[in-house]
Amino acid sequence: MSALESEIDPDATPEPKLQISHLDAYFNDRHVVRDITLSVPQRRVTAIIGPSGCGKSTFLRCLNRMHEHVPGARARGAVMLDGVDVYHPSINPARLRRHVGMVFQKPNPFPTMSIRDNVLAGHRLNGTHVDAPGELVERCLRQVALWDEVKDRLGRPGVSLSSGQQQRLCMARVLAVEPEVILLDEPSSALDPIATAHIEELIEELKERYTLVLVTHNLQQAARVSDYMAFFYLGNLVEFDRTDVIFTNPKESRTEDYLTGKF
Ligand code: ADP
Ligand code: MG
Repeated sequence: MSALESEIDPDATPEPKLQISHLDAYFNDRHVVRDITLSVPQRRVTAIIGPSGCGKSTFLRCLNRMHEHVPGARARGAVMLDGVDVYHPSINPARLRRHVGMVFQKPNPFPTMSIRDNVLAGHRLNGTHVDAPGELVERCLRQVALWDEVKDRLGRPGVSLSSGQQQRLCMARVLAVEPEVILLDEPSSALDPIATAHIEELIEELKERYTLVLVTHNLQQAARVSDYMAFFYLGNLVEFDRTDVIFTNPKESRTEDYLTGKF
């Protein structure tokens, strides 16, 4: 969708950033993600919801090829990022993860690194040169609204921060490698309500520039921050639509049952 088209119809679905076709994922012979076909719109928040164990995290890990690092795991199908197959043999998974970054449920700053070095850690691991590291650290910490809180103690360990601050630091670490897609796996479920509100505000701001895929079991959170929602059940994609449509007019009875707390 061009900028002009969005003037005509602001509700039109944007161009897909990721196109997932017939994606299957296994742990040994357990088939946990089943034939998922889904387009993720660019510069929007797409929430993945569904009961515990339905394959949300596994699906997310397939999008930046982290799934293949889990023992016994394999995936089949296609994941296209701007039309490029991320499973093509010539794609280097470590380089892919600079385009498709990930934030986990439990904040995981590198325990031996300072706040500053945690922001730069992606570049250090990849061996990429940063021209002005001080400026990059400030820009990324400002983006996650952490700069004012930590600017006087950038040399202190990342793990000396509160858990909400640590999660924002982890988001700054992802932003520092300038990804296009950010995968968030229950990023606030280990945080208190104030820290959760900060993360939600941040997600809303980031979608102006990035494509976000948010796994959450918190339906209120999905309602607050997502534009699109995918409902997973037993490894299958049951329904995908705009968030307001899913909440007000779900097409599948299983979606409705889940939203109304029947399971
Ligand atoms: P969700 O994130 O929706 O809770 P997961 O993707 O973590 O679901 O899990 C999907 C299924 O895969 C579950 O049945 C889970 O037990 C199984 N599973 C997850 N991780 C592993 C693993 N490392 N080894 C074997 N089975 C796993
Ligand atoms: Mg999970």
